[in-house]
Amino acid sequence: MENNPWQRAQKQLEKIAKAINLPPLLLARLHEPDRTITVSLPMKMDNGDIKIFSGFRVQHNNILGPYKGGLRYHPQVNMDEVRALAFWMSMKCAVVDIPFGGGKGGITVNPKELSERELRDLSKLFARRLATAIGPTIDVPAPDVNTNPTIMAWMVEEYSKIVGKKTPAVITGKPLTAGGSQGRTEATGLGGSYVLFSALKRLKKSPKGLTVAVQGFGNVGYYIALYLEQAGMKVVAVSDSKEGIYVKDGLNPQMTLECKQKKGYLSGCYCVGSVCDLNRGRKITNDELLELPVDVLVPAALENVITKDNAGKIKAKVILEMANGPITTEADTLLKKNNVIVIPDILANSGGVCTSYFEWYQNVHKKKWTKKQVFTKLQTQLEKVTTEVFTTQKKYKDMSLRDAAYALALKRIQKSWKQGS
Ligand code: NAD
Repeated sequence: MENNPWQRAQKQLEKIAKAINLPPLLLARLHEPDRTITVSLPMKMDNGDIKIFSGFRVQHNNILGPYKGGLRYHPQVNMDEVRALAFWMSMKCAVVDIPFGGGKGGITVNPKELSERELRDLSKLFARRLATAIGPTIDVPAPDVNTNPTIMAWMVEEYSKIVGKKTPAVITGKPLTAGGSQGRTEATGLGGSYVLFSALKRLKKSPKGLTVAVQGFGNVGYYIALYLEQAGMKVVAVSDSKEGIYVKDGLNPQMTLECKQKKGYLSGCYCVGSVCDLNRGRKITNDELLELPVDVLVPAALENVITKDNAGKIKAKVILEMANGPITTEADTLLKKNNVIVIPDILANSGGVCTSYFEWYQNVHKKKWTKKQVFTKLQTQLEKVTTEVFTTQKKYKDMSLRDAAYALALKRIQKSWKQGS
């Protein structure tokens, strides 16, 4: 069970539903997705071969608003994973208090094996097949693993052709030139910093001088490191899929990124053997990074990296889950026992979907906000929601912040459901 994401999601739902007395009929609705769509995508490849790809979309529930969630292109995409991801999107949208339900989808394909023409045609065909099931007020997809703003722009173009009207609000995560929002690139990392600062305030701690280790130095990892460092925290370690670096006196995320881009690897930015380019530091493994003696640990790469095998060795007092699902259920229990505070993914990384909502809103209302406007709205929203999660935790004594976030999300859904949707 531990690693079957759909069973994990269902268990989580059942547990919290019981704690908050969720009406059985609503629990039954949320226990399964509203709709699962599978489409066949036959394609003529560049070499003349005909290949049939499978595409799908899971629409979990739309009680709060249109289904919302990404499209991933991956050879191992499986239905249980996508169902779980759609459920988690429902919870994330509800906890961050935006008027969206949850969805997820994708194509079983390795996009790295496709030419640009094949990728574009496959994406446009997918948009044609999904056209009757998606729409600005029905279901609003977005990028996910191995999809990007360019792919979203192709799909919007195709959808707009079908409905006979330019419809940017059908998909978010578009390039700026195709109706994307300012600030989306930084949003998830920046949002995570707002959530952390707000949580630290509740815990009566100042961020100044706190040490932090960040696993993953991609979009999310880089921006969270940058914003935490700008707020006076000491980023002592970062890592990517190959390796990590530990710099006791703290590293500069921006210089580290520039250096990594130039050299191609992280450790070259601090020390290789006796040669130190920027500062003093040492190479570490990803496992070592998780167990460093830091105040805050930020997993920002993959799921299931903190398990029952290493949870007992975690020294951080606070874990900010920027990746989706980095802690297994068993590890979660162990961490709670050791008084480690876990700020859950559905809250910590919700800055991304919150800004997707801002993009949709701007498209629907034909507005263009500046980056400053987007960041101010994001900060207000995430501070409000973090406070609400803490208040919910207090109300249901002995709940973890994760359980409190789910309880809050389900309560919001229940409120809307009662009103008749
Ligand atoms: P990304 O592809 O930009 O970066 C991923 C990083 O993880 C890279 O630095 C990569 O080298 C590193 N990595 C890969 N395998 C690793 C391993 N085995 N050990 C350590 N590091 C490894 O992806 P991202 O957009 O930064 O997403 C990171 C996480 O955040 C994912 O779990 C994603 O689902 C989640 N997330 C992202 C967003 C968003 O807006 N980008 C929103 C919500 C959640």
